[in-house]
Amino acid sequence: MAVHKQAYLEINNELTGRQVTLVAVSKTKPVEAILELYELGHRDFGENYVQEIVDKAEKLPKDIRWHFIGHLQTNKVKYIADFIHLIHGVDSFRLLKEVNKQATKYNRKIECLLQVHIAKEETKFGLDENELQEILNEEEIKSLKNISISGLMGMASFTENLQVVRDEFARLHNIFTKIQKQDPAFRILSMGMSSDYKVAIEEGSNMVRIGSLLFGERTYK
Ligand SMILES: *Cc1c(COP(=O)(O)O)cnc(C)c1O
Repeated sequence: MAVHKQAYLEINNELTGRQVTLVAVSKTKPVEAILELYELGHRDFGENYVQEIVDKAEKLPKDIRWHFIGHLQTNKVKYIADFIHLIHGVDSFRLLKEVNKQATKYNRKIECLLQVHIAKEETKFGLDENELQEILNEEEIKSLKNISISGLMGMASFTENLQVVRDEFARLHNIFTKIQKQDPAFRILSMGMSSDYKVAIEEGSNMVRIGSLLFGERTYK
């Protein structure tokens, strides 16, 4: 079980020059694989499942920056609040309030990205543009001192048609820049995975989440 070291070095090189952060998505992969990248100097790792990220964070070096990229249930925030670096998939005000509450317990400020639904597929996850604005306009948001809404996250349609993917990323980038003009704290645009990260960067992504190119295909669970 080895990581694709050559692919890592190439992708890392490609991204560093463009100021794009690489989140290595290690879900379903063993801690040994994470350590291999860690030893090459990598620190940003992404996971989708609460139990898995908690187990791995316990076993691995404390200077890893853990990204939660899956769908986070409100009742599970408490398990990750003391160590999580960035939560990518926030899609309700209720969840933001819970993150704030848990972060307060640890005297931390947790950075969050709001997930926007840009793909054609029907899924439960992600906000449409109206819902996004509603959250940003919440009066109560200013009182949430232990979170920071640092940007947006999105996933393009699952399709071979890269023009469709490009249009979706462009749309998200457009939403992102509009908000950024009013809020300088808004600085992260997390979009792009193994199959579409190049397109995502061309369309303005500054954080990509890459799994299979680095760790090999997953046997799904
Ligand atoms: C699994 C996952 C990724 C990584 O996918 P790859 O195709 O393996 O690069 C990125 N983002 C999210 C939200 C994921 O769930």
